Amino acid sequence: MGEPPGAKAANRAGRYWMSEVDYEVDWAYWVNTKTFRLRRLQKSVLVGSVVLIKSRGVTEEGAKYIETDYGIAEKTGVRDISKKEASMILAEQALEYMKQTKRWPPDMTIKDSLKDGDIVILFSPSEYDSFNLRFTIEMVGQKPIDFLEKLKRSKKEPEPVWKVETAKSGRSKCRSCGRPIEEGRFRIGEPYFYEEHLSYRWHHPKCIAPTFYIPLEKLDGYRLLAPEEKMRLSKLLQK
Ligand SMILES: [Zn+2]
Repeated sequence: MGEPPGAKAANRAGRYWMSEVDYEVDWAYWVNTKTFRLRRLQKSVLVGSVVLIKSRGVTEEGAKYIETDYGIAEKTGVRDISKKEASMILAEQALEYMKQTKRWPPDMTIKDSLKDGDIVILFSPSEYDSFNLRFTIEMVGQKPIDFLEKLKRSKKEPEPVWKVETAKSGRSKCRSCGRPIEEGRFRIGEPYFYEEHLSYRWHHPKCIAPTFYIPLEKLDGYRLLAPEEKMRLSKLLQK
């Protein structure tokens, strides 16, 4: 059988963990293996990380959909990989996280227990993305279930949600265009974790619109808007 295709990349990830590689792309996320959260890719990404590159498509019938391609960040750039390879790399990285923290990473549950003792773990870092991570006896060095049963559950962190609000001052800057967001104007908050604390990157609705795909009802703060404000916001967010 030999080593799985993902193993080499995962080993490289360990060695070069601190280095970053520039990657210019309109819309992508990467899996931060310190937290196992998806992070929006902004200009550069840690070498060794799995990258999810998003693009929009339209079917012949005119229905819109979002497509995901996968990549691995290497020192020389982001290399295309299959979803299967991405899942293998993530499985190695999840195992590393588990060995170091003795905990389950967030958003992972056991999906299937196979006859040969392998365990399939479902990793769903967002509502739209999920991976099947196969833990083999070879990989873990013992029956995966015995190893997994000893892990503690991660603290249940609140699911990070995007939000909308009117800017309380003119001090915030739009992360998309770099210009200030004027007081009283809508601003869209993109959640991210900074040293485990939930924080937001703000955007002008118009600037985030091309890559915005959250249903408005799921935006924190949306329900508090007056009907005419809701209409104004949805117009601003139109692609
Ligand atoms: Zn902007």
